[in-house]
Amino acid sequence: MAHVHGPHIFHTDNQEVWRYLQRYSDWVPFVNRIKANTGSGIYSLPINLHTINQYFAKTLSPDEARIFLSSRTENEILEPANFEEQALKFLGRELYEAFFKGYTIKQWGCEPTELPAQILKRLPMRFNYNDNYYDSAYQALPRGGYTQVLENMLDHPRIRVSLNTPWDPAMRKDASHIFYSGALDQFYGYTDGRLGYRTVYWHNEIHDGDFQGNALINFTQLSVPWTRILEHKHLVPWECHEKTLISREFSKETGPGDIPYYPKRLEADMGILQGYIDMAKRDRGITFIGRLGTYRYLDMHLVISDALRLARDWLDARNDNRPPPLFSRAPL
Ligand code: UDP
Repeated sequence: MAHVHGPHIFHTDNQEVWRYLQRYSDWVPFVNRIKANTGSGIYSLPINLHTINQYFAKTLSPDEARIFLSSRTENEILEPANFEEQALKFLGRELYEAFFKGYTIKQWGCEPTELPAQILKRLPMRFNYNDNYYDSAYQALPRGGYTQVLENMLDHPRIRVSLNTPWDPAMRKDASHIFYSGALDQFYGYTDGRLGYRTVYWHNEIHDGDFQGNALINFTQLSVPWTRILEHKHLVPWECHEKTLISREFSKETGPGDIPYYPKRLEADMGILQGYIDMAKRDRGITFIGRLGTYRYLDMHLVISDALRLARDWLDARNDNRPPPLFSRAPL
């Protein structure tokens, strides 16, 4: 099994989402244990007690590590205003520069001072040896792959799927309501400008045996052009292969024809976004959904919980003769 759109490890705390997904696949538990190659060594991620002890060559206990790190963090930053300040406040300059600065510049194509602090808040920071990348109660991969999950969801007598059919505004007349999961700026023909997105692409190679011994290794130095290497077979330990497929992941600005993956949400984007929200408010018969429709950096489980809630709200609104929700989650 290959993750052709990059590694997607499903994780959630939401029981309703977890139960809902059981209808469409057998899910095999998977714990994502990412490693970081900083150029001077291989370290445990997310930043945990092992990382701190490895990086500073110490043998600190949890309490000692807290005291040690707080002497290195920039405690005078009260309300971190951006990614860099968030990192300096909680990790200090050494860990920030070793693990986050280079990777973030490669991934987002801008200075970490321009990025929201929220991006770093995705990652836990731990003073114990737990190296599970996520905190979620449920973490798993679909045994037959995500394509099969979607095929099973769509297998319904009232659902017709048209592939390779680009959206055309003329289609609006055929629908009583549209749920649009493409990009908001694209839907309105980019009339107010383009929202910033990063796209990712991969260079694939096949090797013998085991290439790196783990599904994901992040390369945190700016001088290494890729951000991470995914070795697909480590995501599916129930498959057995003599050879191994690896994908080096690169990031760049989204140009025409590229798939938008990561909403950047820089200050300039938020102004443009407001313009599209105003356009949407004047529109009728449409709801924008998902990561692209709401221009938010959402994980799979949030997209699903938003969609389940939206379906209920939309039906309630229709029954009560109220206007349906315009977004599955407020973009601002
Ligand atoms: N990040 C980093 N170094 C790492 C891992 C993450 O600098 O080794 C930063 C980077 O800015 C990244 C963000 O943390 O975009 C969120 O990381 P996550 O692993 O959640 O990204 P995703 O898997 O969604 O690409």
